[in-house]
Amino acid sequence: MFGTWSFLRFTFGAALLGCLAAPSAQAAGGDPIGVAMPTKSSQRWIDDGNNIVKLLWAKGYKPDLQYADDDIPTQLAQIENMLTKGVKILVIASIDGTTLSDVLAKAGERGVKVIAYDRLIKGTPNVDYYATFDNYIVGVQQATSIVDALGLKEGKGPFNIELFGGSPDDNNAYFFYDGALSVLKPYIDSRKLVVRSGQFGMDKVSTLRWDPATAQARMDNLLSAFYGNAHLDAVLSPYDGISTAIISSVKGVGYGSGTVKLPVVSGQDAELQAVKSIIAGEQTATIFKDTRELAKVTVAMIDAIEGGHRPEINDDKTYDNGKKVVPSYLLTPVIVTKANWKPALVDSGYYTLDQLR
Ligand code: BGC
Repeated sequence: MFGTWSFLRFTFGAALLGCLAAPSAQAAGGDPIGVAMPTKSSQRWIDDGNNIVKLLWAKGYKPDLQYADDDIPTQLAQIENMLTKGVKILVIASIDGTTLSDVLAKAGERGVKVIAYDRLIKGTPNVDYYATFDNYIVGVQQATSIVDALGLKEGKGPFNIELFGGSPDDNNAYFFYDGALSVLKPYIDSRKLVVRSGQFGMDKVSTLRWDPATAQARMDNLLSAFYGNAHLDAVLSPYDGISTAIISSVKGVGYGSGTVKLPVVSGQDAELQAVKSIIAGEQTATIFKDTRELAKVTVAMIDAIEGGHRPEINDDKTYDNGKKVVPSYLLTPVIVTKANWKPALVDSGYYTLDQLR
């Protein structure tokens, strides 16, 4: 019975895929491709995994998608296992970009090509390409959304701001922070922005594993230590999950009710919950990184490698992983606010209006 069902499913699936996409020249081999994702705790990684796998099946590859629950040993074991199963190419969104050197040395010995997905893999020569967004620009855009919402360019201020960074083991977090500070620093220097806590720099403001609960605890502490009788006007938040936690923390001490305005809060990923919050006038902005496009770039890289060509790259300078500069393809992120969420996210087909209600 199971055999018949599998056969039917396979036959139907193959026929369906035949309709969806002309088989590529590379499809004949149906090579297995490993896709290692960090966590299902945030929607973006679920979408990333699904988008890549959909494209890979449609092109005749055999994807093996694994999520590691943000646990480094689990991710290492999953990649080991993919190698044992004979994958030809590995796509890896790392949890800690510095922990993969040993397992990737094995990949290198076997001639398995490695694509770092979204997050740079560091400290190893065994990473071939990097598909991501322009991470520095993400930070620039996060800060720009704050500058615009506060009216700093129009001379308004001074305002109180606190800074949050991403996970210190994720290379992206430094790019986001540096990009953001490039915009905020002149205002901080001229005291139009004041960081009452004095907490600057990734060593002070980072959030291990991007964990919302960690960020919420830090925000609670900052509020009680520095904002007893001052208003917090803005928070640089690197990721929507952290933005939600920050908003919950400030609401806990009365912001957003009566005359106490919520602070301006940035974000990243255009997660459903955050977009709803933007529409409701709570979170100020997010940065939309179209995971469908990142999946396309990645699968185009896989196609090129399988076809014996060099994948298209558009940056060969920025991403030095300590052992090599990894040839990269950088996509362009987009700021999303209350003013443009509909054209950016609904008209583009990323979300339906129903999902955002
Ligand atoms: C990604 C962001 C994401 C963050 C937390 C980063 O590496 O680039 O899009 O918000 O991880 O998951």
